[in-house]
Amino acid sequence: MKRCARCVMPETWTGITFDEKSVCNICGANETKKVKVNWGERQKALNDILRNYKKLAKTTGNKYDCMVPFSGGKDSAYTLWAVVEKYGLTPLVVTFDHSFPLSPEAEWNLMEIPKQLDCDHLRFTLGNGLRNALCKKASEVMGDFCWHCHNGVGALPARISKQWDIPLQVWGEPTMAEYQTAGPYRYEDLEEQDKEHFEKVFQAGITPEMVLPRDYNMVDLLPMTWPDGEFTLKALYLGCYEPWDQRKQVEIITRELGWKHHEVEGTYVDWDKIDCPFEPVRDWQKFMKRGFGRTTFQASKDIRGGLMSREEGMRLVEELDGKRPGSLDLFLKEIGMTEKEFESITKVHVVPVSEQ
Ligand SMILES: [Zn+2]
Repeated sequence: MKRCARCVMPETWTGITFDEKSVCNICGANETKKVKVNWGERQKALNDILRNYKKLAKTTGNKYDCMVPFSGGKDSAYTLWAVVEKYGLTPLVVTFDHSFPLSPEAEWNLMEIPKQLDCDHLRFTLGNGLRNALCKKASEVMGDFCWHCHNGVGALPARISKQWDIPLQVWGEPTMAEYQTAGPYRYEDLEEQDKEHFEKVFQAGITPEMVLPRDYNMVDLLPMTWPDGEFTLKALYLGCYEPWDQRKQVEIITRELGWKHHEVEGTYVDWDKIDCPFEPVRDWQKFMKRGFGRTTFQASKDIRGGLMSREEGMRLVEELDGKRPGSLDLFLKEIGMTEKEFESITKVHVVPVSEQ
């Protein structure tokens, strides 16, 4: 399997390309971040935007001047902290819950952090029947069980923005910054969410019609579909306006909010993606399809950030990627699927490697 000569990302990742020196387009985009972005100007622009939306909420008599979509993970916890403590906003916190059982730490982060910041919080949880049917159907269609979560996370906040008249949403890290090669969004762009962005990044070609399980109707999928009709929305990414340093942010939320974390299977960092107990299962599914797991992602990021050498990264990849996670047992029990079924559904979607 061909990997980038600078980081360790392989050829089986969606949208990856390599230049003549075998350096991948994610490493290329990362260079742009260092060179082109004037963070001082961006910060000023953000302050102007936030001031305007604060004013607007006063004029329209809305309690909330923005919304923060929230999972309790490190990125949204930092974003919520920044929105309240750094920028002085009054957000409505909105959670689309994937409805998998959370670790005690993740459950605490989800429920207690908004309270600590004195925020109002809406938590939406899908019933188990539809959740399980969607996990199975999405695995069949795309070799990934996470469709309901990916789509709900983007669509439910849009629906609430429309119905509750909260035009400003503040998200955390831009999608381009983390592993994405999703075409049009680059570091120098001020990425924002709208219908087109939702379809490109969240839906990524898998429409609700494609994953609609038997015995369900399109109306059942409404919380995971973009709302019809016109409405005003400015859904910005905080990471487009201030440099996104996850290790620093973890320090801040741990110190200021008591944010909790724990070890996760298949990776050497203990603070990433703890907001989903089945992320290691997703990584395992990814490994079956693409021959790499979470450590490849994380090490690539740390190599780019100058935190480790490529050799060290490859050593970690060989040690940690591609191990069957213990949480698979609980996942299969939750969903009601056998391991054989899970494997055969996933393996239909194997991404082939090049010949040389
Ligand atoms: Zn690379």
